[in-house]
Amino acid sequence: MADAKLLEGRKLAEKLLQAIEKEIKRLTASSAEKRDDTAPTMVALSVGNNQASEVYLKSQKKIAEKVGIRHLTKSFKETMKEDALIQEIEQLNNDPSIHGIIVQMPLPQQIRIGRILDVISPEKDIEGVHPYNLGRLVLKKNIFVPCTAHAVMELIDATGADLYGAEVVIVGAGKVVGRPLALLLMERMATTTVCNIGTSEKKRLETHVRGADVLIVAAGKANLIPGEWIKEGSIVVDVGINHCGGKVVGDVDFEGARKKAAYITPVPGGVGPLTVTILMRNVLTAYQLLKGFHE
Ligand code: NAD
Repeated sequence: MADAKLLEGRKLAEKLLQAIEKEIKRLTASSAEKRDDTAPTMVALSVGNNQASEVYLKSQKKIAEKVGIRHLTKSFKETMKEDALIQEIEQLNNDPSIHGIIVQMPLPQQIRIGRILDVISPEKDIEGVHPYNLGRLVLKKNIFVPCTAHAVMELIDATGADLYGAEVVIVGAGKVVGRPLALLLMERMATTTVCNIGTSEKKRLETHVRGADVLIVAAGKANLIPGEWIKEGSIVVDVGINHCGGKVVGDVDFEGARKKAAYITPVPGGVGPLTVTILMRNVLTAYQLLKGFHE
């Protein structure tokens, strides 16, 4: 069998970004004097210094500017108190010129993540992590969905696969990837199996993976899935990011898996670039809803 086709997030992101840019131009063209504060605007809040978070911020800013989204960053000292961060978020919630808010992770330990996520206005929750938005996802009334989970769905859809009744296996049940993905897949009537560390410890992971028409791996463990486990002709989406000997690798043995799958995401260059694109699309959605624009 020929090697799998690459599911490159970058190419798909390019197409989606063009559509976002076009829509933003159309919506803002009507605001006569094109003042800066009429543009869709997002704010990223960052506490302390974290290299991965800095890289994510830079990439957000670059892509936002490309499509016409104003991207503001507010950075605070590592020692910032939880109440002070809550106050900042509340100010942004009440500011009509701000349409999207993102709190960069990780946060220092004196700040409880759960408390912070509760405070972001659900209408400005462009990462889809507020309990209200996660609840809407359960009710199949989603507006904002966690960006990585949504990015995975876009990649699967790009293959043209029919998910109805398909055997889909997710490895990893984290709050922002595995769990929301399971809900999105169930919405599409896929037969959805979610594996976690317990599945591995009970030596059941291989059996599940071997049966997967679509395999999504988001566990954060390099080479967790050997190539020989992959079902012939399947779709493999590798969400994992692991730093291994100076290289970034996923959770799947890429070289082995590409010999059996029909489609596979490279790492890097697969899910990652699409995640930021979905974030931008969520800013546009928040802008449309807050400004009362209709599709
Ligand atoms: P998490 O820690 O919240 O969840 C990990 C899940 O994997 C848990 O359910 C755990 O039980 C399961 N798991 C761990 N080891 C396992 C094993 N040996 N066998 C089976 N299951 C196992 O992590 P997360 O936030 O969901 O992130 C998962 C991975 O995805 C990480 O590598 C992270 O860096 C990556 N990630 C990538 C993006 C992106 O944009 N590409 C975004 C978010 C997360």
